[in-house]
Amino acid sequence: MDMDSGLTDRRRQTRSNVYRYIYDAKGFCSRQSLARELGLSLPTVYQNLSELMAAGLVRDSGEQQSTGGRKASGLSIVSGARVAVGISVTEHRLRLAAADLLLNELAYQEVDNTPIASFADMGELLAQSLEQFLDRFSIDRAKLLGVGIALPAVMSPDSRYITAAPTLRLKDTSLEGLTESIPYPTYVENDATSGGHAELFVRGSSRNMAYLSLENGIGGAILFAGAPYVGDNRRSGEFGHMCVEPGGLRCTCGRQGCLEAYCSPRRIRAAFGVPLEEFFPMLEQGGTQYAEYEALWDNMLRHLAIGICNIRMTLDCDVVLGGFLSEFLAPYLPRLKEYVAGINPFESDTGYLHLSTLRRHTVPLGVALHFIVDFLERI
Ligand SMILES: [Zn+2]
Repeated sequence: MDMDSGLTDRRRQTRSNVYRYIYDAKGFCSRQSLARELGLSLPTVYQNLSELMAAGLVRDSGEQQSTGGRKASGLSIVSGARVAVGISVTEHRLRLAAADLLLNELAYQEVDNTPIASFADMGELLAQSLEQFLDRFSIDRAKLLGVGIALPAVMSPDSRYITAAPTLRLKDTSLEGLTESIPYPTYVENDATSGGHAELFVRGSSRNMAYLSLENGIGGAILFAGAPYVGDNRRSGEFGHMCVEPGGLRCTCGRQGCLEAYCSPRRIRAAFGVPLEEFFPMLEQGGTQYAEYEALWDNMLRHLAIGICNIRMTLDCDVVLGGFLSEFLAPYLPRLKEYVAGINPFESDTGYLHLSTLRRHTVPLGVALHFIVDFLERI
């Protein structure tokens, strides 16, 4: 926060602690509880609060609680004081989401995109779509922390080029052209990693977790004790290319039988020409094509169960299903759990398998989160 650069480090740290305490407070938070919990004098608390309030970052929450005959008034952060935008890029569409400082979704929009001819063209489309999005939802550019871009791609350790992105048909491509038309701070991350970070953030727990991202490209993230395990080549959690059927369906990566080849939503579109929004209502109602729909979906669930079981075998931790396919999974979770239990020799209890807490728009929100975390670290 650059409210005044003359602050000493210690004073800056104190103000940061005050802000973070209010940000993290689950229940009622007052000036008195701040002083008590942070070991500060009341005058110090008052001074820091007046600075934070003048900067528009903290406000009186309007709640009151009696403490020993006196009324204490509550404090909360101003969640809309800053905004972060995330853009998820997939082969068919861009998904844009704006979030406030608590990762509440403020706006969401999808934009169809034609297959990418070059990254420079994609960069132009991103920049244009972003400005239209900001205009349409009247998002104050002065409050915009930055724009995160999530790609179904394995990135180089320095984030400067894509080493592989089969669903986008890209390989060894520099990321330069993608962000240069965007006049705000940008950050590029793998889509599944973004989703995993978002899940970790909203769960607020440091339980070990394997996050399986079910988008057109299937990937994942491994989070141990609240921190990502990225691997030696930044390719950890590439669950989509585990083999679940030797000699099976051809995958975008060129091999056969990958989890992605079996469980990608693209398989539904390829078989029936419909998006998920149309597929699942038909499946549930049992339309004329019900038998074919059901056969394909059951096959997807069985292969998904193999993938989940492999992840559990390897990592022995919670497995969380996210990505846009997970938005439709709740009614089928009991069946999926039954299949998983059926192939796991060690445990019949599938309590480790969850749908992501953040059910919708996990990827764009997850990549926007980068700027919120950055803001919290710098404040
Ligand atoms: Zn593959």
